[in-house]
Amino acid sequence: MDASESPSAVFHRSLHTNPIPIIGASGNYLHLSTGGKLLDATGGAAVSCLGHGNKRVKEAIISQLDVVSYVHSATFATEAAEKLARELVESTNGEMSRAYIVSSGSEAMEAALKLARQHFLESNPPQPRRTRFIARHESYHGTTLGALSVSGHKARRAPYEPMLLPNMSRVSACNAYRGMIEGETEAGYVDRLAKELDEEFRRLGPENVCAFVAEPIVGAALGCVPAVRGYFKAVRTVCDKYGALLILDEVMCGMGRTGTMHAWQSPLIDVIPDIQTIGKGLGGGYAPVAGVLISRKVTDTLFGGTGAFAHGQTYQGHPVSCRAALEVVRTINEEKLVDNVAAMGLKMEELLKQLVLPLPHVGDVRGKGLFWGIEFVKDKTTKEPFDPKENVAMDIHEKGLSGPHNITLYPGNGTVDGKVGDHILVAPAYNVTADVVELIVQKTAAVIKEYFEQSRE
Ligand code: PMP
Repeated sequence: MDASESPSAVFHRSLHTNPIPIIGASGNYLHLSTGGKLLDATGGAAVSCLGHGNKRVKEAIISQLDVVSYVHSATFATEAAEKLARELVESTNGEMSRAYIVSSGSEAMEAALKLARQHFLESNPPQPRRTRFIARHESYHGTTLGALSVSGHKARRAPYEPMLLPNMSRVSACNAYRGMIEGETEAGYVDRLAKELDEEFRRLGPENVCAFVAEPIVGAALGCVPAVRGYFKAVRTVCDKYGALLILDEVMCGMGRTGTMHAWQSPLIDVIPDIQTIGKGLGGGYAPVAGVLISRKVTDTLFGGTGAFAHGQTYQGHPVSCRAALEVVRTINEEKLVDNVAAMGLKMEELLKQLVLPLPHVGDVRGKGLFWGIEFVKDKTTKEPFDPKENVAMDIHEKGLSGPHNITLYPGNGTVDGKVGDHILVAPAYNVTADVVELIVQKTAAVIKEYFEQSRE
């Protein structure tokens, strides 16, 4: 298989270029048909949390195929789905009471939105007017129309804008680098954002709002931007004041990626959501799997109401996906990988700030655990972003893939309004060693340096 041979029959995102053929993968490396290998610093979009070729997960998948590969979850239970759900509920220290397992983050978000609505339809007394959701600008919650409707990612919304759900509104993202006014304290910033949310509730009529939706640490839309300390406590207070639910989207930043099993368990976030979505690291790329973790408050309402969730999918609770995810979660726990994420994350932070932040056109380096974003700017003083048409992040990503660097760096495009610049994301496997962290940062710095020195000046 050679990219130059003949056009691919697969309907790829870009129809003009063939993706790079991968013939194998192990640990932190992807094997190329040319005989070379790429250092996988991102595991796709922060997916491959155990690296590639994990034997334990492979054996678990095979063993599940010997038991049962598929049954309809509305009628039948499997040990794989039961044990995964139990493991997930326990990982929340009992804060969440049930897990709803689907195949992708977008599906999880769709289910989360509908669950919130059903909660209010069946609450006592019913609150049927609660149909509105408040999310944030520069956010991404998925590609399906409901999930895209809450998302604030302008470029991804643009072609479908007339088809998106009308009852969604957005407030400012919590982005210290771009959002804080000069001289403002973190507490002052949090206060200002909480007031904005409060005003949005009042503008919509609080009795019409179902939930506030946000990522604790914003992934693809902003490039690994953690909320400022105190922010989520403040927005939780606003939600509680108006009786709305808090939905946290942890599809990208959850399942150990940012140094705690769930991002909300970190002292930085420190709130308990009513509904939480997870994905990516849940299956580690070994199976398409995502989930919704549902608090007792919401399940109690549904148990006391119709007793059924008016939503269902063919591959819900898929036994093979559940078995793969169960083994991923067990591996994370048994090998104490969340601790490694926290320790290696500190090393990565130190090295990125030392070797990457001082480079020309690097405006900001931010993240948590093994989830780091590097934002590029035209001017470091004014923070003016590059014109998205210049394709800076995509070009840096492509330079990384080529020799001598041979590294994956996940790109994110800026938006036109100057609120977010181009960025790349680094998110290696949780079991990464200090040597590999060092190699990733050295290569990342070399790619960025070469790009700005040779390609642009
Ligand atoms: N939410 C967030 C925060 C995401 O990062 C993504 C995917 N990038 C999704 C939802 C959608 O997940 P999926 O692509 O698996 O549908």
